[in-house]
Amino acid sequence: MNVLVLGAGQLARMMCLAGTPVGFNVCAFDVRSNKVVHPITLTSVHDNLASAIEHVDVITAEFEHIPSDILKICSDSGKFLPASQAIKAGGDRRIEKALLESANAANAKFHVIQDRQDFDKAISIIGLPLVLKSALEGYDGKGQWRLKSQQQADDVWQDIQTFLAESRPEQGIVSEQFVQFDREVSLIGARNARGEIQYYPLAENVHVDGVLSLSLVTKVEPALQQQAEDMFARIANELDYIGVLAIEFFDVNGTLLVNEIAPRVHNSGHWSQQGADTCQFENHLRAVCNKPLGNANLIRPTAMINILGEDQLPEALLQIPSLHIHWYGKDKRAGRKMGHINVCGESEQQLTQRLQQIAKLLDISKFPALERYL
Ligand code: AMP
Repeated sequence: MNVLVLGAGQLARMMCLAGTPVGFNVCAFDVRSNKVVHPITLTSVHDNLASAIEHVDVITAEFEHIPSDILKICSDSGKFLPASQAIKAGGDRRIEKALLESANAANAKFHVIQDRQDFDKAISIIGLPLVLKSALEGYDGKGQWRLKSQQQADDVWQDIQTFLAESRPEQGIVSEQFVQFDREVSLIGARNARGEIQYYPLAENVHVDGVLSLSLVTKVEPALQQQAEDMFARIANELDYIGVLAIEFFDVNGTLLVNEIAPRVHNSGHWSQQGADTCQFENHLRAVCNKPLGNANLIRPTAMINILGEDQLPEALLQIPSLHIHWYGKDKRAGRKMGHINVCGESEQQLTQRLQQIAKLLDISKFPALERYL
């Protein structure tokens, strides 16, 4: 089957790598250059978007900030999955919060802000500290402010006002209760047109400066997994979602609150390439192409380490058993997601030992989440 992915980054690339042997022929639309390319060689494969849409069986996306005209053209073709409503919920925190409320999925208390009056109201109804997030184009902690005390209110509001003045008119702010979480976890699942869902085990995620640094999947914790799956099912069913969906949660003493959803394959699911029976990329393609889903079971404890802003790693890493490096073929830029390392162990203990070996070989200032293994 022929699949067009909106976006030509690493997620389209990994869909292509996972899908090609299974018979999915993947091409990607680069929204910046307006070209339809092969996701690995980045050479043009169709004259333009219209001819690619005509040629493929299914259209999907690797990101949620898709220009609305392109999303409309793709949706109007009748080939786009998941439905554009899900993409919109992933790309606009106001729609996302409304979805979580209607799906009865627990999330942090919030208030939508357009002006200073709303800002003051947010402080009085939610209380401090507050996290303020841009409604549109926010990802990896970008477009966020923290308000810790009333004394900072005027300065923070000034920053937000400047930000809003420089943004497009549809931009807005969602203020949110600051959650004192114990840890962050995420659930990746794939749902097909028949409403069947395959759930991956929860990943525990470590973020540094708002960016994912490390994901760990070591065992299934039945009560927490059940809580996450119940919320996933309610959200996915509400959207009649088809494809892989990722939900990020805060774990507050065993109770999960949804932080955000991503209507696509997700960085915290990259571990599944080596740690699950079927990886998230193959399962996304299976779901959108209306094929039976693959088993999402954990086959061995696995960790994923993001490579940010680096294009080389010590060769000695390759001597560590069950370690796999995945490069994205991108030009080096500070902080850019350049690749990731997956490493597995036959037991949690063996995985920890391997993470300790990795931590010794890497420059910890560039992989700060590994400090705990030194
Ligand atoms: P986000 O882009 O919403 O995923 O936010 C990036 C990171 O900021 C999250 O992974 C959390 O570590 C942190 N964060 C976001 N929202 C909150 C919140 N309401 N309370 C505490 N920390 C938060």
